[in-house]
Amino acid sequence: MGKFGSRSIAFRRKAPPIRYYSPTKYWNGPFRFFDLPPELRDNILKLILLDWDSTTKDAVHLFLTNKRIYTEAASIFYYEVLLDNMHLKGTADPFLAGSLTAVTPRLHVRNLIIRFLMKEQMYLFGESYGTALREMAERGKLQSLRLEIGSRFPCYEFWGFEDELFTYDDVRVVAGKAKGTVIKAPLFVTKEPFQNFLKFLEESKIPKITLFVDAEDHSKFWCLFHRSHPSGKKCDGEWKGNARVLKIGWSSLVRALKGAEPVAPVQKDC
Ligand SMILES: [Zn+2]
Repeated sequence: MGKFGSRSIAFRRKAPPIRYYSPTKYWNGPFRFFDLPPELRDNILKLILLDWDSTTKDAVHLFLTNKRIYTEAASIFYYEVLLDNMHLKGTADPFLAGSLTAVTPRLHVRNLIIRFLMKEQMYLFGESYGTALREMAERGKLQSLRLEIGSRFPCYEFWGFEDELFTYDDVRVVAGKAKGTVIKAPLFVTKEPFQNFLKFLEESKIPKITLFVDAEDHSKFWCLFHRSHPSGKKCDGEWKGNARVLKIGWSSLVRALKGAEPVAPVQKDC
């Protein structure tokens, strides 16, 4: 026994010899991937697609193998997709554009996140995005849609002013079903892109939609629509939550602003 030796090793009984069986004793035919149970196939595909060591080439080879493997692999690869469209000015994301084929990737997305600019891209929900997202829910696998409005406030264009001389207090819209409520809001909410966005939220059959805005800016407009402060006290734009983004109750947004119309600015005495 050496200086660093261990008694337990010196007296350990020898392990029985490992027997290796040749697979040929059991099966001489070809290995068929689809003979494996679905859970095993799933694990193998995940190793190829999601492992840090795997490359784009590996994924492409896998997708091109055949339609059945493509379908199984695409459901893993496109399980969650983030479209960060903050750089797109008025054009649709290619991922949500174009007509559907049997291998259109977006049909395999389960969770979709879209980060977009309000003025530049909101209109798309009344057009190509609306169609694409409805198809993804009806013919594809879309279960959850998270929308993040990335536009920052205040921005005089957004509020519908001709120039910056106006103050925010001058702009009001009538809102609510009975048109009985007057709130301070950007004129943009009365325009077609915003109204079509509300229509999309209300009519799309996507099982779960969540809407987020920049937490720093919510007091300028969104404060009316977020969940209440955990302590129950009135927010008045003070509470920003703990995250970068703040969740908005989109159904209360739809209720309040569907069909909103502008009211003439308040006349001030000179
Ligand atoms: Zn608030």
